[in-house]
Amino acid sequence: MFPGFNSLLAATLPYLPKALVGLVARRYVAGETREEALEVVKRLNEQGFEATLDILGEHVSSKEAAAAVAAAYTELYHDIARMGLSANISLKPTHLGLDIDLETCERNLFKVLDAAAATGNFLRIDMENSPHTDDTLALYRTCLEQHPRVGPVLQAYLYRSRNDLAALMSSPLNFRLCKGIYQEPPEIAIQDRAAINDNFLALLRQAFEGGAYVAIATHDRPLITRAEELIRRLNVPPARFEFQVLYGVPMKGKLEALLAVAYKVRIYVPFGEAWYDYSLRRLKENPHLAGYVLRNLLRK
Ligand code: FAD
Repeated sequence: MFPGFNSLLAATLPYLPKALVGLVARRYVAGETREEALEVVKRLNEQGFEATLDILGEHVSSKEAAAAVAAAYTELYHDIARMGLSANISLKPTHLGLDIDLETCERNLFKVLDAAAATGNFLRIDMENSPHTDDTLALYRTCLEQHPRVGPVLQAYLYRSRNDLAALMSSPLNFRLCKGIYQEPPEIAIQDRAAINDNFLALLRQAFEGGAYVAIATHDRPLITRAEELIRRLNVPPARFEFQVLYGVPMKGKLEALLAVAYKVRIYVPFGEAWYDYSLRRLKENPHLAGYVLRNLLRK
């Protein structure tokens, strides 16, 4: 594809008919309703995968809407328990009101955390763009005092992640390591893709050596292979890590290969009414995704 094609395509996406975006979203989103998403999780469990459920949405601007999101997540924990599913929950702080104020988000987070504790489950707090990093890590620390089964996300493209990881490891830590999805300025974020991968592995090594549990979240198969090599070299037991991917991303047999060596693989399963906005925002934030969209459309 010609240079700038991805950006051009991303810029025209808001004008595409909803049905067309829906064709693509259908692959990556597990439906609009809780029932549909829970069915997807059930199927994934039957195939040997764990799941983490995410209700689509972010940047909520009213306290009522943020409270409703917290209530929906609370119900979801009870559904997971009732159906006996192998799944936890991932959520975005701005979906629980972080853009409104820290207190609103914290209040909602505690409600969700109560349900996690009541059902003996785990809560992952996703990491959004850099203006939210400090608040999100502060929220995580407060949550950890209430319920031990909670974990943050660190992004390998941020220079600060090395120090954040060192600081977080002063308490028992279960974190997700990903490259980072948002466009961040060069002053704070590595821009070179190979250098991001090197930092990903450096952080992974730092985490293993520091005793943390790591959810290794990437679709980059060569990077997964390098992570596996590191695991073998450091002799890290499978109880100290898991692999994570987004629902619907083609992995060409890699996930089954990971399951075959008894590694845990968790699929991030997003669902909900906000699938259209979510898909467009992701596409605008990461023009590379536009290329995947086009390839998917052409395949269809
Ligand atoms: P890339 O080098 O970008 O991609 C590797 C290959 O995977 C590509 O060549 C492409 O073929 C394929 N691929 C990647 N993404 C897609 C896609 N969506 N559709 C189709 N093919 C694709 N980022 C955050 O900033 N905060 C988070 O909290 C966060 N949570 C995440 C949770 C999970 C489980 C995963 C898997 C990712 C998460 N991310 C998060 C996104 C992550 O930071 C990356 O931006 C994203 O996964 C793409 O990078 P990659 O590691 O897959 O490598």
